[in-house]
Amino acid sequence: MALIITDECINCDVCEPECPNDAIYLGELIYEIDPHKCTECVGHFDEPQCVQVCPVSCIPVNPDFVEDKETLWQKYRRLQIQAAAPAEIQPPPAPAAD
Ligand code: SF4
Ligand code: SF4
Repeated sequence: MALIITDECINCDVCEPECPNDAIYLGELIYEIDPHKCTECVGHFDEPQCVQVCPVSCIPVNPDFVEDKETLWQKYRRLQIQAAAPAEIQPPPAPAAD
């Protein structure tokens, strides 16, 4: 499952840096979670880190993205591959100018 931030969010900024998948971002009014990046922390931690730190408990399961553990693992692996890809296609650094 992916998680979702409800409108009870108080924009305290605490969850955003805790997400290992960079799935949390500041939306128009409150913080939001990209469901395509949220693995419920599968692959990184035993518990969802954003839920652990949220002071107002406003991060339930997103009912539109109910996924089983295997699907979350697949999402985690896909994200890892995507994260590695840009580095592999980077050109070598240019020689320093004298
Ligand atoms: Fe990020 Fe984990 Fe929260 Fe999903 S559950 S938004 S991966 S911190
Ligand atoms: Fe909102 Fe909770 Fe994240 Fe704070 S920790 S920004 S209240 S979702």
